[in-house]
Amino acid sequence: MEMAYYPGCSLHASSQLYDIQCKMVFKNLGIELKEIEDWNCCGATAAAKTDDFLAIALPARNLGIAAATGLSEIVIPCSSCYSRTLVSQKRLSCDPALKDSINAELGQKIKGTIKVSNILEVLRTKVASGEIAEKAEKKLEGLKAACYYGCLLTRFPCDVDLTDDVENPQGMEIVCKSLGAETVDWSYKTDCCGASASVNDAEESQLLMSRIFKDAVARGANCFISTCPLCQFNLDAYQDEVGRKYGIQERLPVYFITELIGLSMGFDPIEMQVDRHLTDAMPLLKELKLI
Ligand code: SF4
Ligand code: SF4
Repeated sequence: MEMAYYPGCSLHASSQLYDIQCKMVFKNLGIELKEIEDWNCCGATAAAKTDDFLAIALPARNLGIAAATGLSEIVIPCSSCYSRTLVSQKRLSCDPALKDSINAELGQKIKGTIKVSNILEVLRTKVASGEIAEKAEKKLEGLKAACYYGCLLTRFPCDVDLTDDVENPQGMEIVCKSLGAETVDWSYKTDCCGASASVNDAEESQLLMSRIFKDAVARGANCFISTCPLCQFNLDAYQDEVGRKYGIQERLPVYFITELIGLSMGFDPIEMQVDRHLTDAMPLLKELKLI
């Protein structure tokens, strides 16, 4: 089976390991990810704040290219890219004049629709079908995961079809439990980490992150799990600094969901680049004898 794939800029830059892991895990589940040709940045960070037309037109161009592949579904791992693309698709479906004006400028016109999925939506179907269990060679016993969804995966500025609960999503927990990992109940799974304020208001951003870290530790988590390269990077890169500032002793590795699935499938952690995280992600796996 083939699925269209939009990696977004992060998976081609700072989070290349996530791109590698997505392809490895999906391939083992029988899905060939076909990266769409000549894709452009979704514009989430700059266009969404400055230019509403461009904020719709940039993901629309990618949708046009994706639909032209003839594949029925596109999977988008980054929450920010996923959110912007789904919003663009919704706006185009409600506003034929906007769609016409964008199409007038595009070489690859937006025709028909393609199902836009985040990575968890696809993985959940593979838990339900038993395919993840079938491929699992080992149980991830001892992992106590704080599943972090971040602020964009389930919350939208307009009405879109969601497959999970807005305030208390469960998709990541379902995947983790299917691999034998424990998950903790905690209060900050959909809270914003303040990433976009990290340059102009570092104090506020660090305060938001300190709440996330403190609650995960207080609930007994020994790691974070993320499906978003931006959320993963923020928790990973700032944890030490925020921990020192706010008196938090513990440091929790921040795994991508694909790392857990890959480990259970028996993939080499070095091949998956698990050793590339900034908060060392290898010691816990060694301590729990998972590698
Ligand atoms: S999330 Fe940011 S970096 Fe990634 S494609 Fe969208 S705008 Fe570009
Ligand atoms: S990185 Fe932070 S601000 Fe960006 S989506 Fe994730 S939680 Fe929200």
